[in-house]
Amino acid sequence: VKFVYDFTEGNKDLKDLLGGKGANLAEMTNLGLPVPPGFTITTDACKVYLDSGEEPAALRDEVSAHLDALEQRMGKKLGQADDPLLVSVRSGAKFSMPGMMDTVLNIGLSDKSVQGLAKQAGDERFAWDSYRRLIQMFGKTVLGVDGDLFEDALEKAKETKKVAVDTELDAADLKKLVTKFKKIVKTEAGRDFPQDPRTQMDLAIKAVFESWNGDRAKLYRRQERIPHDLGTAVNVCSMVFGNLGPDSGTGVAFTRDPASGHQGVYGDYLQNAQGEDVVAGIRNTVALAELEQIDKKSYDQLMQIMETLENHYKDLCDIEFTIERGQLWMLQTRVGKRTAGAAFRIATQLVDQGLIDEAEALQRVTGAQLAQLMFPRFDDGARVGQVGRGIAASPGAAVGKAVFDSYTAVKWSRSGEKVILVRRETNPDDLDGMIAAEGILTSRGGKTSHAAVVARGMGKTCVCGAEDLEVDTKRRRMTVPGGHVVEEGDVISIDGSSGKVYLGEVPVVPSPVVEYFEGRMHAGADDADELVQAVHRIMAFADRKRRLRVRANADNAEDALRARRFGAQGIGLCRTEHMFLGDRRELVERLILADTEAEREESLKQLLPLQKKDFVELFEAMDGLPVTVRLLDPPLHEFLPDITELSVRVALAESRQEPHENELRLLQAVHRLHEQNPMLGLRGVRLGLVIPGLFTMQVRAIAEAAAERKAAKGDPRAEIMIPLVGTVQELEIVREEADQVIAEVEAATGTRLKLAIGTMIELPRAALTAGQIAEAAEFFSFGTNDLTQTVWGFSRDDVEASFFTAYLEKGIFGVSPFETIDKDGVGSLVKSAAKAGRATRPDLKLGVCGEHGGDPESVHFFHEVGLDYVSCSPFRIPVARLEAGRAAS
Ligand code: ADP
Ligand code: MG
Ligand code: MG
Repeated sequence: VKFVYDFTEGNKDLKDLLGGKGANLAEMTNLGLPVPPGFTITTDACKVYLDSGEEPAALRDEVSAHLDALEQRMGKKLGQADDPLLVSVRSGAKFSMPGMMDTVLNIGLSDKSVQGLAKQAGDERFAWDSYRRLIQMFGKTVLGVDGDLFEDALEKAKETKKVAVDTELDAADLKKLVTKFKKIVKTEAGRDFPQDPRTQMDLAIKAVFESWNGDRAKLYRRQERIPHDLGTAVNVCSMVFGNLGPDSGTGVAFTRDPASGHQGVYGDYLQNAQGEDVVAGIRNTVALAELEQIDKKSYDQLMQIMETLENHYKDLCDIEFTIERGQLWMLQTRVGKRTAGAAFRIATQLVDQGLIDEAEALQRVTGAQLAQLMFPRFDDGARVGQVGRGIAASPGAAVGKAVFDSYTAVKWSRSGEKVILVRRETNPDDLDGMIAAEGILTSRGGKTSHAAVVARGMGKTCVCGAEDLEVDTKRRRMTVPGGHVVEEGDVISIDGSSGKVYLGEVPVVPSPVVEYFEGRMHAGADDADELVQAVHRIMAFADRKRRLRVRANADNAEDALRARRFGAQGIGLCRTEHMFLGDRRELVERLILADTEAEREESLKQLLPLQKKDFVELFEAMDGLPVTVRLLDPPLHEFLPDITELSVRVALAESRQEPHENELRLLQAVHRLHEQNPMLGLRGVRLGLVIPGLFTMQVRAIAEAAAERKAAKGDPRAEIMIPLVGTVQELEIVREEADQVIAEVEAATGTRLKLAIGTMIELPRAALTAGQIAEAAEFFSFGTNDLTQTVWGFSRDDVEASFFTAYLEKGIFGVSPFETIDKDGVGSLVKSAAKAGRATRPDLKLGVCGEHGGDPESVHFFHEVGLDYVSCSPFRIPVARLEAGRAAS
């Protein structure tokens, strides 16, 4: 294997091997842009080093050969006393990782070569400034010396001299500082700062390798779900100097605005400075546009290069550059990060410029970005009083009174207060409080902390790990930077999309993107905002491309209408249990407890018209589109009174010697129906089979509603879905009864109804016998929530808050299997069941109605395995449409 690539040998597609920085330096070199020569040590070399603790045998020689070639090309040797070649050693992994080690600049300087550099540059100050920077960076990142010690010494030097900025220190001052820095290294690292240039370089390379396994890097990877085995590349790049006086400088730039996407001149420039000075804020930078006055030639050339890069990468790029005495050098570029809104705008702008096509535009945005744009947000103009910032763990904008324990959260929210639950970190005991709160704020923990995982699962706004906030739950208060104390009951606002925390109430505005989907804002209108126009166009691209249809989970006409506005092509799951609550509960109770046939008939007769009315409304709202109605699914006891409450009532009545026959009878029934494990008990099709008349009443309501809609010249397209089927026999029995009822309704009304009957696939046995089940089913809908529970053998309500955090931290899950489909387990059952079902019945319709239907990664999976549609909650529909389009392009 080859471990070292010259910048002329690589290209932008070799990010796995050369890291992002190395691959793009090579790409720019080959584009003919002015990149200081250098070479890249591969991630393979890093992997060998990390596995074996030693550099691969061939590496040293390869580095020597490349260094020789570089020296020859530059006409000087690394660290040469009279005219030293200097290099930077820069880390660069496949994904940019802010937690990694910093770069070491000016390698090759020593007590001797600093004199040579001074003479060559004709600038004593510059040489000593470069040397002190080397010792500082090398000391900190290679030798592990506390960086503050150097900073403090620098501050002191400025104080002694009574100057404000580092450029006012002269050569003599800097020389003294170098002596001081060397002393710091000696005491702190227990060794002298190495004078041999090659030793400096080799130690720096090793330090970069090792930084891959540093705590910060590991934590960052875990949070961002970057694999731990990629390793980092190391770039050795000949130095150019922005600190050679006022005709030199360094800067950063974007080819367009990463916040709005607008083309223009965006960036910062700092004269007479090196490397990190621009972003470190040590002196005031100027806007990039001012470079035109400072150095017109370099400015024009930079604009030219930015255009070249955009046309080449066909995307927004960010850039690091340095000007050395009027000569422009490119030090880095990459496709730049952008806000969610800018991603949509830029994608459509690039289409308009003819740089990319619609399919490519879809790859430039994500469903997660769209979801982000759909959350209500804080009014930009009113964002004042920011007091802290944590990790944006679960998006949204939440305002409420700060409370510091779950008990208070629940109590206050019951009395109508909006609260934000503030904790150092949360644990399973906080669950009630989290549910009661508008949002959750913690001062500890990252994206996989308990608070973050649970909040995301609940769709609740959460900011976690806001470390500058001092939370004191005992005294029910938190102290913010600057010392202000937030007491229990003080209003705070948290932004789960940016991680920002504000004092007081920040006004919330609805998302313009939701206003658009709701039809309250039109993309074509003259004043429509650019973002809405961009979203509108991207959605059209996605709808043209996608093969998957998108349906909604909706139980009533209101949700159905919203879903339609959001682009739903039908209802994939209407849960009828929601129609059995409220006043109707008593009717159901009577049905369950009926002793005689007549009593049962009576309750069913009363329920029928109520159910029918619900369906008529739903079919009208979804006229012309399929509506899948699931027959009653939840455990029976959910419709009966609470066991404890009832026991108390009976006991009271007894002690007062009041009549309580009914209560007693009810209590006995509740006891009889009580289940240890309701999720695996009497529910779904089992209910239909043991309570005579229940399912047929529901089927009759559906059929009569459909007939009524037909009579009204509507186009109802009902599909009847049987839940929790484990074997085809269950389905056959229910189906036979249903067919008979439908035939009766058809005969009575004189209409042909064409009602499809199908089943949910949500038990492993159903998936395993899908070929048989398909004989009795016209469609399958994969209930991936229950299927995930039954395949893994855990109940969602019980486990998510208890051990998922531990599982995520240990890396057992990358992400909760309830959030993203577990492809290898649950997914493989979906795949084989789909195949077996279609083998039996080629026109079997296949869909999914679990929450995975709105999850981006899962949507791609369902596309791949060839399902016909996904169904999700109304608000996720645009996300599912977009991802289905992305999956198909
Ligand atoms: P990061 O990944 O943190 O941006 P870089 O490797 O890009 O680290 O380097 C940090 C800073 O040093 C950047 O401002 C970069 O432009 C500058 N730099 C890196 N190598 C050189 C070099 N050979 N000559 C001049 N400046 C350099
Ligand atoms: Mg950089
Ligand atoms: Mg289910």
